[in-house]
Amino acid sequence: MRPIPERLLSVLNDFQQLTNVILEPAEKAKFFEDEAVGRLSMHPSPLRIKAGKLARKEKAGGTFILSAAKWIDSLYDLSERNSIRVWITRGGFRFHENRNCTALAEGQSKANEQGKDTYNPQFVELVEAIRYGKKPCLVCKPKTKKAKE
Ligand SMILES: [Zn+2]
Repeated sequence: MRPIPERLLSVLNDFQQLTNVILEPAEKAKFFEDEAVGRLSMHPSPLRIKAGKLARKEKAGGTFILSAAKWIDSLYDLSERNSIRVWITRGGFRFHENRNCTALAEGQSKANEQGKDTYNPQFVELVEAIRYGKKPCLVCKPKTKKAKE
């Protein structure tokens, strides 16, 4: 078995702390395969704990149920207030503010014509789009800084 990256172990720690449940080895393996867990690992632990407390459901005996999908949703709800999200596709070089941006649609149909794979646009945090090396779209000109409130 490959060693589990530190950042995923940190999500597991938070999970066990939030649910009061220690996972069995087979459950752990499943946990680490969950795409939502990978996403959770991109966020700082204190924010994860905060989001997890909102998303977990109490069970008998002082334990909690926490689905990774609900957990990441709750985390996005929390971080939405201070982070910008943009649209990207896996094959695209730019990120978009607008899901219906003409450049996004054109890029997809061009890829289609060239027989390349197209991917459904994903709504991700700006920092994530930048981490993937994407640049702002010149058509819909996404904001890269939060407007002052
Ligand atoms: Zn655009």
